Amino acid sequence: MTFSIHGLAVTRGIAIGRAVLVASSRVDVAHYFIEPSQVDSEIDRVRAGRNAVVDEIHRLQDSIAHMGPKEAPHELAALLDVHLMLLNDEELIGGVKHWVSDRLYNAEWALTSQLEVIARQFDEMEDEYLRERKADLEQITERVLRAMKGVASPMAHPPGRPTRAKSQQDLLLDDTVDVPLILIAHDLSPADMLQFKQSVFAGFVTDVGGRTSHTAIVARSLDIPAVVGARLSSQLVRQDDWVIVDGDAGVVVVDPSAILLAEYGFRQRQHELERGRLSRLLHTPAVTLDGQKIELLANIEMPEDAAGAVRAGAVGVGLFRSEFLFMGRDGKLPNEEEQYWAYRRAVEGMQGLPVTIRTVDVGADKQFDESLQDCAHLNPALGLRAIRWSLADPAMFLTQLRAILRAAAHGKTKLLIPMLVHATEIRQTMFLVDRARAELDNRGVAYGPVEIGAMIEIPAAALTLGVFLKYFDFLSIGTNDLIQYTLAIDRADETVAHLYDPMHPAVLRLVADTIARCQAQGKGVSVCGEMAGDTSLTRLLLGLGLRSFSMHPAQILAVKQEILRADTSKLVSWAQQVVAEDEPGLLLARSS
Ligand code: PEP
Ligand code: MG
Repeated sequence: MTFSIHGLAVTRGIAIGRAVLVASSRVDVAHYFIEPSQVDSEIDRVRAGRNAVVDEIHRLQDSIAHMGPKEAPHELAALLDVHLMLLNDEELIGGVKHWVSDRLYNAEWALTSQLEVIARQFDEMEDEYLRERKADLEQITERVLRAMKGVASPMAHPPGRPTRAKSQQDLLLDDTVDVPLILIAHDLSPADMLQFKQSVFAGFVTDVGGRTSHTAIVARSLDIPAVVGARLSSQLVRQDDWVIVDGDAGVVVVDPSAILLAEYGFRQRQHELERGRLSRLLHTPAVTLDGQKIELLANIEMPEDAAGAVRAGAVGVGLFRSEFLFMGRDGKLPNEEEQYWAYRRAVEGMQGLPVTIRTVDVGADKQFDESLQDCAHLNPALGLRAIRWSLADPAMFLTQLRAILRAAAHGKTKLLIPMLVHATEIRQTMFLVDRARAELDNRGVAYGPVEIGAMIEIPAAALTLGVFLKYFDFLSIGTNDLIQYTLAIDRADETVAHLYDPMHPAVLRLVADTIARCQAQGKGVSVCGEMAGDTSLTRLLLGLGLRSFSMHPAQILAVKQEILRADTSKLVSWAQQVVAEDEPGLLLARSS
């Protein structure tokens, strides 16, 4: 039966495919396709993993057979029996065989897919005792996965399977391998999302998350249709269901009818045509009708993204979110050498174009090690985040600063500091930059010049711009956080997402004033929050005087198209009028 789930649109486009349910805790399980010739060995890997756990349990049973009821309570023996029964259940291995041989999933992915199928059956059981056995099932799956880690995996097949350009006709005919896959999860951390960069997935859906949560931001950088905040999707959608992800409207259609498939298939092709049309603008300079040159920069998460930024026509990187280098390492931070090479790769990857490296912005919805997450601090967005965290650990900060300064010897590099608000923080930062240089001098290590910029992402910073203009070479407006902190709306919380509004007059006034004051003093200013890549806001930002936009590479051409059609001389007074409105959104909607 067809039904739809409404969430928040993250990335434009339509994806049609089969659902792959992934529990957040199992996202780090490898997902790749195997060659048909590897099917048997892959199934053997799961069998070997299962047998190892069965042997382990037998050994445990033997040892507790000689113990008294105090050391080995009766419940333990019963639990081991249940685990053995689950491990020997034919449905487990039978299902794994299906995922491996029919879908060519690697062993770990097949095992966790089958876990989701069986877990769903447990959820639906009437009997409470049986329902609770789901936890046991999860435990034994974890153990089998761990046991499999000791078993060598055959070479992973690169996950570059054709997924985007399939017609609806193809989909209906080919119902086994080669069908696009849609990832459905309750939640994914930004680090989880990053794992899917080289992804086999054609679309993403999560139950929770806001439009500018970092998970959504990474999903957007993947340029794959995505919907977040689609509440209960991970419970309502079943493994292998057909789903449509409508990234334009933020809707997930489950089990679509043939008519809906045809309609969305048509819209999918329209998107492809639009992409093709936009690609003709790749080499066109971003200049408005009245001759204003506009700088279009890229936001990146990893050094390897630099190549994509160049390909997309970016004239530099306006925001390299360096914290992604620190994630997914179980809290172990990268040392100076590792960081230096990563920054250097980004700088060299941009082939002479400037790279703005933002110092680490950990905290709030970006944690280095989720298991270490400090639940005592209930308001992490207002806590030890970004520069506050860096200044609290000067040795770590100096390591990062030295690595960035060294990378600057290999190409034009700028340093960007997030979340500053106090003059004392600014002075401490400058002191530590000088100290990092001095340390490199003492070691006789080469480094390059950097311009230093600050992010304006706290209203107090926008309201006390004088001190920022005094110390910094350039400013970059982080509208994602500026909106969050101005409106007191958690950007990662889908329950208040309807109130998260870039067009709120308070936000617009802070943005407008920051641009105007930078212009008056001849300081460079850009916007690097999601507002920069939103084509419905391009004319407004141009009218407010913005000449530098930093966004996901995939958004560059659409924004460029808006720029080519704009005449800034005609936008200035209109933009002032929009900002002065009590409800600017209404005027913007009327004039678009
Ligand atoms: C912002 O806040 O607008 C920004 C660009 O930084 P981040 O999204 O990484 O917080
Ligand atoms: Mg920010």
